Amino acid sequence: MAEARCPGSRAVEMLVDFIAHRKAAPGYSNHSHGIAVDFSTVEGGHTLTPETGKSNKDLIRHNKRWEKSWLYRWLEAHQAEYGIERIPTGAWHWNLAIPLQPRAQKLVR
Ligand SMILES: [Zn+2]
Repeated sequence: MAEARCPGSRAVEMLVDFIAHRKAAPGYSNHSHGIAVDFSTVEGGHTLTPETGKSNKDLIRHNKRWEKSWLYRWLEAHQAEYGIERIPTGAWHWNLAIPLQPRAQKLVR
């Protein structure tokens, strides 16, 4: 049986790059703080979900599909009215547009 080997710094860098585009660090997700939502929609028989794919190329392709959807265009047109904003890495993920630092200060009191 082969021994497990240390993955090396290049493997760690690749893993961090992959995860950083998909997940917040533990304790830093706006979903956990109750100020974020991931949308799903159906357009032309195709279901768009909050999926990130298996590569950064998949993620870019999925975001481009989302940005063409009726729901995304509606969210973008009404974001100021509802005080929401998307995050750059996921067109399906929208946060309440509030400053995080003062909110975080309230949470630690
Ligand atoms: Zn999300």
